[in-house]
Amino acid sequence: KEFEKLGVSKSILEALKKKGFEEPTDIQKLVIPKILNSDKDIVAQAQTGTGKTAAFGIPLIEMIDRKKSGVKCLILTPTRELANQVAEEINSLKGRRKLKIVPVYGGQSMELQLKRLKEGADIVVGTPGRILDHLKRKSLDISKIDFFILDEADEMLNMGFIDDIKTIFRYTPENRRVLLFSATMPREILNLAKTFMKDYELIKV
Ligand code: AMP
Repeated sequence: KEFEKLGVSKSILEALKKKGFEEPTDIQKLVIPKILNSDKDIVAQAQTGTGKTAAFGIPLIEMIDRKKSGVKCLILTPTRELANQVAEEINSLKGRRKLKIVPVYGGQSMELQLKRLKEGADIVVGTPGRILDHLKRKSLDISKIDFFILDEADEMLNMGFIDDIKTIFRYTPENRRVLLFSATMPREILNLAKTFMKDYELIKV
């Protein structure tokens, strides 16, 4: 089976079967083994609808270290809808792994978010503005994350989030791995990669 060949473990294969994912998409074939077998940062050009969420979600679930305490991965999305969608997709892919995924975005009750963050999150998915709010009030600590994922980076740029993103980068530890996905590659996105990533691989589907 194709997903098996990419190095996906049994528990996730079961989840994929339940979801009806039979074959990996092109981006999944390229990105999943790259994330699993190297420690380079990744800048991937991929349109929505190509299966990019699972392309980063599957290896993320495989690699996340549950024994570590605190937030292990931050995912930034341009909209609250996408934050929810990404959280749901990862939830449905995680199989038997116990992972707590907390969506955090503007417009949602701050109190509820504070409560959920306090209860402990493995993965936080959110929009840049609200994430930055939480970082400033110290209700979110991303100083020990292993993964920093930017989804639809060009959309975040279009929505004026570039400065927020740069500030958020400064809250992340030096040794985190960055996975950036974008439908287009404007210069600002490539500059972001050059400024904040060490050794990254550019992937185009
Ligand atoms: P995305 O590009 O991540 O928004 O995914 C687009 C849609 O394709 C979502 O509904 C996914 O659940 C679905 N999808 C992702 N990967 C696969 C796959 N390998 N087989 C079938 N459907 C998939």
